[in-house]
Amino acid sequence: MVVSDRQAVLKIAVPVPQQRGEVLIYDYLAGPAIGAPVGSIVQIPLGTRHVWGLVMDASDTSQLAAEKLKPVVMLADVPPLDAQTLKFLKQVSRWTLAPFGSVMRLLLNTPEALLPPPEQPVFTLPEFPLADVRLTPQRQRVCDFLKMVPPLSATEIARETGVSSGVITAMHKSGLLDKQMAVRGNRAPTLSPEQLKQARKSFTLSDEQQQVADAIAAKGDEQFSVHLLDGVTGSGKTEVYFDSVARVAATGRQVLILLPEIALTRAWQDRFEKRFGFRPALWHSSVTNAKRRTLWRQVAEGQPLIVAGARSALFLPFSKLGLIIVDEEHDASYKQEDMTAYQARDMALLRAKISDIPILLASATPSLESWVNAGAARQDEAGHKDWHQHILSSRFGQASLPEVKLVDMRLSRPPRGHWLSPDLQEALKATLEAGQQSLLFLNRRGYAPVTLCSSCGHRLACHQCDSLLVTHRLAGRVQCHFCGISQPLSQQCPACEEADSLRAVGPGVERLEEEVRMLFPDAGIAILSSDTVRSASDAEAFFKAVETGETDIIIGTQMAAKGHDFPQLTLVGVVDADLGIGGGDLRAAERTYQLLWQVAGRSGRAKQKGRALIQTFQPTHPVLDALSKMHLDNPVAARDQFMQAEADARQAAAMPPFGRLAALILSSRDLSLLEAAVEGLAAACPAYHGVDVFGPAPAPLSRIRGAHRIRFLVRAEKTVALQKIITEWLDKVRLPGQVRVVCDIDPYSFL
Ligand code: ADP
Ligand code: ZN
Repeated sequence: MVVSDRQAVLKIAVPVPQQRGEVLIYDYLAGPAIGAPVGSIVQIPLGTRHVWGLVMDASDTSQLAAEKLKPVVMLADVPPLDAQTLKFLKQVSRWTLAPFGSVMRLLLNTPEALLPPPEQPVFTLPEFPLADVRLTPQRQRVCDFLKMVPPLSATEIARETGVSSGVITAMHKSGLLDKQMAVRGNRAPTLSPEQLKQARKSFTLSDEQQQVADAIAAKGDEQFSVHLLDGVTGSGKTEVYFDSVARVAATGRQVLILLPEIALTRAWQDRFEKRFGFRPALWHSSVTNAKRRTLWRQVAEGQPLIVAGARSALFLPFSKLGLIIVDEEHDASYKQEDMTAYQARDMALLRAKISDIPILLASATPSLESWVNAGAARQDEAGHKDWHQHILSSRFGQASLPEVKLVDMRLSRPPRGHWLSPDLQEALKATLEAGQQSLLFLNRRGYAPVTLCSSCGHRLACHQCDSLLVTHRLAGRVQCHFCGISQPLSQQCPACEEADSLRAVGPGVERLEEEVRMLFPDAGIAILSSDTVRSASDAEAFFKAVETGETDIIIGTQMAAKGHDFPQLTLVGVVDADLGIGGGDLRAAERTYQLLWQVAGRSGRAKQKGRALIQTFQPTHPVLDALSKMHLDNPVAARDQFMQAEADARQAAAMPPFGRLAALILSSRDLSLLEAAVEGLAAACPAYHGVDVFGPAPAPLSRIRGAHRIRFLVRAEKTVALQKIITEWLDKVRLPGQVRVVCDIDPYSFL
């Protein structure tokens, strides 16, 4: 297209959260971005601000029309997004019904990366070196090194020669080195293809692991295929997918490994480094801005990289992606609930499909969706054509699966205010005496979930949510787990003002710790929960204490279930297995099963035999029955029996993955406005064959942060275009600005 400068107009997608599933495009004069191809990132004026947008198209317009347009401010200093990445963003927006502007922001969340990197001082040998200077050995080393390399920063020279950077500045002062300003390119740490091939060959997989690795390799790396790496805990799934990582990385393409954030700890990185000889590029919430900036640019430039990240890493601007791994694919943390609700595992599948590359989903407890898609269910004998299931049925080496025993709490109920049965106490004692470690699992943060006044019966509740306040003794506060507000702990009842009348009811991990400390005063005890392990450095300290044996007993919430490898841990005690089973959530049974299987699977991962004691009031429940068969000859068969029963129940109810589900949540601080809006929406309710709309009904959590919440649930047959129906429905109704609608396609939370 030939256009004259002044009339060249760019159609630019703006980062504005409007237009469900559609791209909101404004026209701008190209200005400095003249000739910028589709996918270019440009800065534009929008209202009173400057924001980053995406070039979606170019066109020509008359001089007259063009005069009203504002020009682009600048072009970003990064290559344009490629067609696949653009298509991915569009499809994520269409699938989740999130405005394209919001999806774009997931990608453009590192604005520092879009500007040219700042210049920094670099050092070289002067053209005419000072004659006759006697150098210290350190200085000599620096001079020798600089003869062989291009100009480098003081830090780089210091690192390579083992001197302090002070030596380099001193050398510059005395005229031994020249200083210039330069932009330093940042190469990602990686090995050459030859070295990667070698890394692959030099590691020995077990026979079973090798068979799986070969089967995955045999499907080729050049087109879309999904591999469900379905192996019991400790079977070496990580080692098997590292093999694929090495194979694809050796072709110079980029690899993305998604993990739940807490699993991205030092231990996992150490394993990676041991295998590959360098550290992976990390992307998660505690990575510094400087590192984010560097990584974002490296990814956009198409550098060969292996990125390990939490779910948000999926929105890095990959331009040479060759493989995606989703580790712990069943993990609920892959579902993002706020703002743009997306399921990262599903969106990773979409990305792999668009990029036409393989994707590996690894888990010891696959999600029912993946299990069915891979053809493991009776319902879908053939499975999906691109899906392959690979089973690792035994633990690596001498390790075997833990022996699982159910403790019937109806028969051995501990005294009031205590939660450990005699059996579990006995097991803890024996494990301590043997010098091994234990994990007590209780999926409840804080000290106690309920605080009750013994005088008037008042329960401490959040004033802006429909929820009870949770006591956190360590922090000295009571806290709402939905909105986060907290207040200092007090002994006085806020209702009847009676002093010293508040009583804790039920256990949280902090209270359990009290009980354990009373029983075993000399043991090293550590709590693993999102309150005690909040940052990467907390995590490091925690895992270090476990590794060195300083910690004897870990008391953990669901954070303890995520893929950790604690070789000295031989006892897992589940304090209350019944916690997650009730509640009527679509995935309650599946999730409880996964969680408890994973927790139990932390036990006995090395040479010593492990066991798991599971306390329950309903030992005959299918979830518990299946768990109790974990250590039998064929643990996968026992698991599959449970999964099949679950699949049958879902099919009978036409629920996912056999049907489709979406939630619409309307919320407002103004109840009458909300009710009117809901009435309007209910009147326009779609009536199609194969679509059921449930509601309106107050959401189970009917108030959060002072906003009332009412929800609709839409269930549709698999063949129905659910997103289209919902869009049309919402388009029919004009909602007042004070009423917010959130669409959650394939909801995981039913609150
Ligand atoms: P999973 O991810 O299936 O739970 P891991 O990959 O964490 O299992 O492996 C469990 C343990 O066995 C780890 O400590 C790992 O280093 C070790 N392991 C697994 N496969 C091998 C192998 N082929 N050679 C040496 N060690 C292995
Ligand atoms: Zn609250």
